[in-house]
Order: sequence, then C-alpha cells, then structure tokens
Amino acid sequence: MQAQVAPGQQAYNPQAPVQQIAPPPMPQSLKCNSCGAPLKPSAGLALVVCAYCGAATTIGAGGAAQVIQKHFMLASTIGQEQALTAGGQWLNKGLLRRKVAETSDLGNTVLKFVPYWVVPTTVVADYQGTRGTGVAQMRSETTGGKILGGALFALNAAAMANQKNRNVQPQVTRVRDRIQISKNIPVVAVRGYTKYQPEGGYEFNEAAKVNFDKRQSGGAEVMDGDVTEAEAKQLAGGQAQKIAEREAKKRVDSLESIQVYPTMADGELLHVPVFFVEYAHKGKAMFIAIDGNAGHVMNGERPAVALW
Ligand SMILES: [Zn+2]
Repeated sequence: MQAQVAPGQQAYNPQAPVQQIAPPPMPQSLKCNSCGAPLKPSAGLALVVCAYCGAATTIGAGGAAQVIQKHFMLASTIGQEQALTAGGQWLNKGLLRRKVAETSDLGNTVLKFVPYWVVPTTVVADYQGTRGTGVAQMRSETTGGKILGGALFALNAAAMANQKNRNVQPQVTRVRDRIQISKNIPVVAVRGYTKYQPEGGYEFNEAAKVNFDKRQSGGAEVMDGDVTEAEAKQLAGGQAQKIAEREAKKRVDSLESIQVYPTMADGELLHVPVFFVEYAHKGKAMFIAIDGNAGHVMNGERPAVALW
C-alpha cells in the first residue's frame, strides 16, 4: 500500500531525485531595461546578460522583464596553467588514482563566467538516532548488521556479563537533537549545467565579490542563465536538506529519523569564473570544473559525458 501524503506536504525522502523543473514561457521580444538595447533571449532563457551594457535581465511570470539589482561577480585570479595544475593534483588525489593526470589526454580548457544564484539558506533539522560503541559495534562485527530482536537481546545480555567480568562499558545512547546550519548555497543558473552544481556545501568566496561589470570578464564568455530565482530557492532547499542529513549522520551511528526545515532568503546573482577542463582517460571523456576565483576544483565527473 502506498503512503498517502496530503498535497503540498511531501514526505521527506532523501532518496528522491532532484526535481526537474520546466523552463518558464518566453516573451516574444525583449529590451534591456537598463540601456534599451534589444535582448536576444534564446528559448527557455530566464536570465539574459545585455551584450551592450552587461545588465542582467530576468524574465518573471507573464514575461515581465526586470533588471536584477543584486548582481555581482568574482574575478578570475588564476590562469589556465594554474587551473590545469589544480585539476591535475585533484585527479591524482587518492591511492587509486595515481598518475591519472599523466596518463590522460588533455582536451579543451575553457574559461567561462557562469551565473549562480547564491541563496542564503538556513536549515533546522530535528533528528533521532543512536550512538554507541559497545553493543552496536559488537553487533556489526558479529553479524554484519543483520540481526533479529531476540539475538540482539542475547548479545545485550552477553555484553552485560562482559561488563561485570572485564569492566567493559558497552552502551548505546539515544540521541535526539536539533542542528541548525546556515550557508550561502550556490545554485547554477544554467539548466544544462546542473552537473556542474557544486555540492556538499561548497561556498564561493563572497568576500571577494564586486559589482558585476562585463568588462572585467577579460573577454571570456559571460553566460546567460535559464533558471529563475524562485527555482533556485527551491533547489537550494533541496541542497540544504542533503547537507543537514549528512551532518546528522556524523553525529549518530544510526540515523533513525530526520525532519528538515529549510528557510531560503532572497538571493543574489553571481557570475563566477569557471575553468572547464576536458580530458580523456582510457578513451573516456571527462571534465573538471575549477573555481577560477578560489583556484579550487569545484566538481569533476568520472562517467563519460562531454558537454561541448
Ligand atoms: Zn543593456
């Protein structure tokens, strides 16, 4: 039997895939609200950077165009060589990945300014679980976690006996607590770039941001976006849930339940310099995305998918 969930009250399911959202409808013609130049939005674009003045226009519900006021950028602080070095080090990190960089064929490296919605998100999570080194550990050692109630009781009794004899302290503690996390969650504003979405609570160096000025891009492509701020907020909420869940799992050995309440404030648009490094390893095409402001690898993929 399927669980009945009231509309709008989706039960939290950490396994649920990130929801795909349909692009908003496009207006027929569009002018830059800042300088009046015609904008050429391609299908599905919700975020257009004016080719003349660089103002970013967002298209709201019903096709109303609005210039985004909170629009910032990060400068690129590294060059291509440094990006490749960072990428190579990241590739070789870990015991099983020795000399991956050396044995890969380097493809294109492209610098693009990619728009992200940075959504200030606070998540409160109430969780319950157990923490324990005594019985919990014994249980997993003895039976690999597959154990029935009766057998567990027997182990408990054995543990108690142990405690008497050897002064061991096996105990399982029930944990019921609340965590609160605040993060500026970046949501990539380009629908086709969701695989470059930084995860795991990655944050850009907001302290280094400056007002957006297209001339500061140094000739690199400045991308338009097609994800609205409202969608970004929703996606940030999903990210926050994952972050809270991971944090809760660190605090217990067994997570029994978690209720997550994310709150998203109004965000801002941030164009970030990203180095996309293509390479092939044993014939498989792969990518690395490097935050060109911080010089860190943000994301990389091992299955063969090539964007360009
Ligand atoms: Zn303009």
